[in-house]
Amino acid sequence: MKLFCPQCRLEQPREHTYCLRCGYELPRSLLSPEPVKQTRFFAGVKVGQGDPENAYMRVSCYLKEQVFETDEGSVTIPGHHVRFSVWAGDEARCVLSLPETEAAEMARFIIHELERLGDQTADTQPQPRV
Ligand SMILES: [Zn+2]
Repeated sequence: MKLFCPQCRLEQPREHTYCLRCGYELPRSLLSPEPVKQTRFFAGVKVGQGDPENAYMRVSCYLKEQVFETDEGSVTIPGHHVRFSVWAGDEARCVLSLPETEAAEMARFIIHELERLGDQTADTQPQPRV
């Protein structure tokens, strides 16, 4: 998690208490010692005419509940879910969150099926269309 000055938006070293540029007291209470979210990107492959170019999937594992204080009140992002978003270029086409239990089941399903297919996948993996 990166720390930015709420006053001037300058990114700050995590260990700082006051902004390097404007001296504003930084909201260090928002920093968590452990990551609350891990994100990875997975490149898509075009296998059909209608598939978008440059598509990828963003997978974010929300490990813990996060609470942000805003001028309008506090905003809570629940933990223990995995959020999938499908992107084409810089546009998110759709999003879906799965509870941790469903996401873990999905991971097991994929691993199981890929292992079951074994060597068959080596020759038949879809290749990107150019
Ligand atoms: Zn500042």
